[in-house]
Parts: sequence; C-alpha cells; structure tokens
Amino acid sequence: MPIQILPARLANQIAAGEVVERPASVVKELIENSLDSGATQIDIEIEKGGHKRIVLRDNGSGIVKDELALALSRHATSKITCLDDLEAICSLGFRGEALASISSVARLTLSSKPKAQQQAWQAHCEGRDMQVEINPVAHPDGTSVDVADLFFNTPARRKFLKTEKTEFSHIDEVVRRIALSRFDVSFNLKHNGKLLRKYPAISEQGNPIKRVTAICSKEFAQQSIELNSQYQEFELKGWLVPPSDIQTNSEFQYFYVNGRVMRDKLINHAIRQAIENFSDVESSFSYVLYLTINADQVDVNVHPAKHEVRFHQARLVHDFIYRALADALKQYFEHEQATTNI
Ligand code: ADP
Ligand code: MG
Repeated sequence: MPIQILPARLANQIAAGEVVERPASVVKELIENSLDSGATQIDIEIEKGGHKRIVLRDNGSGIVKDELALALSRHATSKITCLDDLEAICSLGFRGEALASISSVARLTLSSKPKAQQQAWQAHCEGRDMQVEINPVAHPDGTSVDVADLFFNTPARRKFLKTEKTEFSHIDEVVRRIALSRFDVSFNLKHNGKLLRKYPAISEQGNPIKRVTAICSKEFAQQSIELNSQYQEFELKGWLVPPSDIQTNSEFQYFYVNGRVMRDKLINHAIRQAIENFSDVESSFSYVLYLTINADQVDVNVHPAKHEVRFHQARLVHDFIYRALADALKQYFEHEQATTNI
C-alpha cells in the first residue's frame, strides 16, 4: 500500500483508543473539561452503565457559538498556545483530544451558552464524515455534553465493555476521585434516573471531612490523622489512616499532584517506605493526600490519560513525601504509646 494520510475520523478513532477506554474515561474527560471551565455545579446522568448514554451538565464559562465545531476537532484547545504553557500546565486538559476522540466513537451533542451570549447553540456530530451540525437550543448558562451509544461504530471496542454494573462502578470511582480533589464544586451522579451520589459543595470555611466521610467512610474519617507539611515550595496535606493489622475491606489510596489524581511509582515507594517503618508489609493503610508543587516542576504530558507525571526533582519530591509521612506516623505512634502507658 502507498503511504497515505489517514482520514480525520480514522485518526480520531485511533487516538480515541488512548483516551476513551470505557464509559468512565468519557466521564473523567468531561468532568475535567467542566472544572477547567470554572464550573461549580456538575450534574452527571448515566444510563445503563454508560453503554447507552452519558450526560454531563455544568454551569461553567460555556463555549461561544463560533467555537462549538472547533471544540470537537482534534488538537483544538483553548488551554495552551505555546511550549511555555505546556511546561507549566495549570488546567486539567491541554491536549485538545477528548471531545474529538469521544465524538469519533459515539453520538455526541454539545450544547452551550456563555453568559454574554443571548442564545444557546448545539453542535451534533456522528457518522463518518465528521460533519458538525449547529442548531439553536434552549439551555441555561454553561455546557452540556450528551454522549450516546459509545463505540456504536467500533464493534471491537464495544465488545470489551463490561456489565452495566461494572462500568457504573468505574464511573462512580472516577466521580469519587475527582470529588475528593474539588471540595468547592458540587457533584450529583444519577444512574438510570436515580440520584445515587450527592456531594454538595463545601465552602472555604466549611469542613472538608464531611465529603471525605461520604466518600471514604466514617471509619476513614475517624481513624485518619491529618497531615500538613511544608518544605521549600512543596506542600503535602490530607489524611492518612495509620497502618494496622486489622484488615479493613475498604482501603482508600488516593494521591493528588496539583489537583490531579496520580498513580506513580516514585510516590508509592515513598509512602510504602514511610509505612514500613512502623508496620509489616501486609498491614492495611489508607490515605487521601494532596501534593502541591510549582507547575513548572512537574511534567504531566507523559501519558494521554494523564495518569502519570514526571518530576524534575524526583529525589527531592520522594524524600519530602517520605519525611512528611514518617514524621506524622512517628508522632502518632509515640502519642499512642504514651496514652496506652498511662
Ligand atoms: P482540552 O480539554 O484538552 O482542551 P477537549 O477536547 O477536552 O480538549 O476540549 C476542547 C475545548 O473545548 C477545550 O479547550 C475548551 O475550550 C472547550 N470545552 C470543552 N468542554 C467544555 C466545557 N464543559 N465548558 C467550556 N468549554 C469546554
Ligand atoms: Mg479536555
């Protein structure tokens, strides 16, 4: 075969393989877009585990009519314009790929109304040619994205979807994880018409432990110690349940770097090392921790789904996390010992 440039739709479908693995990844991308748009209220409605429909509504900045079609094209983003921006990313998105990818493997309707625009407009996209239709619609300030029939045109992918229940549990998990990163935003999650999760926004003066309790459990909230460590420009905050021999069936291990949930070898290693000072390897422990670090100290452009990061000063970050946790645990166990000795 001669070398050919792939048609846009096929290129998007290939890219979708990296971004859109299952309904939960659609939900993640859409919530991140809403958060980037400054939304404070995000309502998510799921039908049949997301197989059938995923609808997300926000009260964010909205998208102007002339940019609706553009928002659906690949490499179209309002979040970065140059390499310097990429090197100090503050938004959750920046690749300009999510909406293009999703719309290439589902029937997507994007409705939006920026405050300053009188009329709301809707873009609909499905089928082979990526033709986007724009029509007027009734919609409050903000944006809705309606994703129906995920993978309808990629049967091989559709086959890999699990049961409704499993797919919904992945969605639930995505919402939980993100809700733990933004206490100031209200999230509602419905499945098949039933409101299953309601995480009201917590004001700056309010107590975030309310949401932590709702998401992680009462035990977690009761048993955890609060962390608040600083070193140079690094900051580590959050909650940690000290290791114990009592096996719980709910272990929560969430680590956020600048508001983004991460799975990272270096971070895991630092946490494990700190824990192992005080317990054997088998013991269970939970945490919800937030690392804040200068945006230019971390590279998030490592993985399309942005689950991984690269730190410029990896050793320093590792040692900071280790020290912060080891110190907090030491204090906790010393206090425990002192009180049991009385
Ligand atoms: P990225 O988030 O990487 O920029 P996306 O494909 O997810 O790429 O979105 C493309 C663009 O569409 C965004 O840069 C943004 O300008 C706009 N957009 C998407 N979702 C929303 C939303 N909920 N509210 C406002 N603008 C949005
Ligand atoms: Mg995005």
